[in-house]
Amino acid sequence: MIERFETDGGIRIYRIETQVLPHLRGFVNLVFGDGFAPILIDTGCGTPASTSEILDGFTEIAANHEPNFHLTDIQTILLTHAHIDHFGGTNFFRHATGASVACHRYDSRVVASYDERAAVGLMRHRTFLRECGAPEERIEPILLSFGFVPGRTRSTTVDRLLSDGDTIGPATVHHFPGHSAGHIAFEIGNYLVGGDLVLAKTLTQIWPERIMPQTGLVRYNESIDKLRALILARQQEGKQLVLLPGHEEAILTPVRRIAKVEAASKRRNERLLEILRRCDEPLTCMEISRRLYLTSHESRTFFAVCDTAARLEYLQLEGELIAANYDHLDSDPAVRYDVRR
Ligand SMILES: [Zn+2]
Ligand SMILES: [Zn+2]
Repeated sequence: MIERFETDGGIRIYRIETQVLPHLRGFVNLVFGDGFAPILIDTGCGTPASTSEILDGFTEIAANHEPNFHLTDIQTILLTHAHIDHFGGTNFFRHATGASVACHRYDSRVVASYDERAAVGLMRHRTFLRECGAPEERIEPILLSFGFVPGRTRSTTVDRLLSDGDTIGPATVHHFPGHSAGHIAFEIGNYLVGGDLVLAKTLTQIWPERIMPQTGLVRYNESIDKLRALILARQQEGKQLVLLPGHEEAILTPVRRIAKVEAASKRRNERLLEILRRCDEPLTCMEISRRLYLTSHESRTFFAVCDTAARLEYLQLEGELIAANYDHLDSDPAVRYDVRR
């Protein structure tokens, strides 16, 4: 499916829908305008099915909207962030088009040296899951179903490392760390191609900062504050920014959506505290996560535990929580949390 957007300056942005994870649809964007060669933003997950949906999208765009467009016209590939559902197809599209690849410097090692980052990530995730109270026999199945493992995708050279405020073609780069260390959004005219920063219906996945620096809820909250400030600043200039996220529909009123995201995130934190208040004994992150999400699906477990751990980390910083078993961590690494009573 193709959606077409046109900026107030006449730049055309086509959103191509594709299957990016077994249960998740997502979008890549193809950008056309005068004075620059077509730009591809994000590349799908790299499975043959995802790649062929994107190629079909290109064919449809050439047939119905941009006559004479050919794959090899694409000279630049931009990545919002280095999560597999956004950059997994980069190696394929780089070779198919001959385009150069650009992403934020903090996410570039995942793209350029995936196996190295995945191996280090796996090691950290194992320690993390023990700390969360995962039984030893469940650690490997949980990590396998999450799938951040060496060999999942082929590494690709990154030609240009981006920083906040850079411009590349018609796009201005805005750095919004939190969901990933090098998460960026591209401002093109009155559109912001926003990756996973804010979604139309669901809350963005948050990771605990102790697994990866520059993630975590504090950083994420700062980033959505920064996003709101950007939108309001553009409003002052007479420009209404429309947010094109990497999943779910376009967000026409992003300031309103940010307020809803903040309220929902706050409610989730309050629910977490309530779970601990009502429980007679301190709970591990795994135990809290099960009560918070009621998830039984193995493939969702890691996402739920990470979101819970990120909130525990935040609430601990805020002084709301204590590690109740701090004097027994030598014999059992699972931290048990309680509210400060
Ligand atoms: Zn993501
Ligand atoms: Zn995503």
